[in-house]
Amino acid sequence: MSSPLPHPVTGEPFDSPVPPGTGWPDDPARPTTPVAQDADGVLRHAADVGLDDLSARISVCRACPRLVDWREGVAVEKRRSFAGEPYWGRPIAGWGDADAPVLIVGLAPAAHGGNRTGRIFTGDRSGDWLFAALHRVGLAVQAASEHAGDGQRLVRTRMVATVRCAPPDNKPTTTERDTCAPWLDRELTLVAPHLRSVVCLGSYGWAAALRGFRAVGYAVPRPQPRFGHAAEAVLEHPDRGDVLLLGCYHPSQQNTFTGKLTEPMLDAVLQRARDHSLEGL
Ligand code: SF4
Repeated sequence: MSSPLPHPVTGEPFDSPVPPGTGWPDDPARPTTPVAQDADGVLRHAADVGLDDLSARISVCRACPRLVDWREGVAVEKRRSFAGEPYWGRPIAGWGDADAPVLIVGLAPAAHGGNRTGRIFTGDRSGDWLFAALHRVGLAVQAASEHAGDGQRLVRTRMVATVRCAPPDNKPTTTERDTCAPWLDRELTLVAPHLRSVVCLGSYGWAAALRGFRAVGYAVPRPQPRFGHAAEAVLEHPDRGDVLLLGCYHPSQQNTFTGKLTEPMLDAVLQRARDHSLEGL
């Protein structure tokens, strides 16, 4: 843990990583929130819990030793340009409306993005692209998301990461992905009754969404739908209604710098999700 530094929005001093329940904006946890220490702990703590407690438990999880070491090491060492800021250094919970009809599924937080700011897709270039697009189509109240506590708010939208801790090289192992999956499955169970559209960022997000929705009782078409930009698939559930899955190239710098993903392409997928989800509401 490193010595306290002022939060960029509130000016309150925080250690890095941030101890739970110490006043960080939107911290869902308390000092007494139970901590999952391994895969069995994740399964146990994700079972039969409501959304607020789920977010709290996710945000203190320590089940993957390699990822805990990495996220906390990055939080202490910091990037030089953020050396004066505290780093969150904990898992990133889902964020947005609990009853959102639009869900965005990403891969994992970035080491100096979400792992620093404590909010999904916040504080890195990918997030800058995504939030600007969300704002253009009316799904976010501000064009930028810079830090927890900055006044940004999603509109009828929620975001989740498939793996909740920043991984080295943005590559979680299969074991880490599977260890984290019960958090996602529980979150999908809780938010699914309201969902109409799911935007999957990249093939990893697409595959994770298919696995997660299948795990919580949705029928996935056979053969399994393939990922592509603007690809669509309908997942059916006997009681909850259908969910429209939408593929979207990840707004990584690799894709945005090369023109593989342009602003109009990103806007079009988000607009499709918005139109489909809010139709008739
Ligand atoms: S990746 Fe998921 S399961 Fe692993 S430590 Fe982070 S929150 Fe826990």
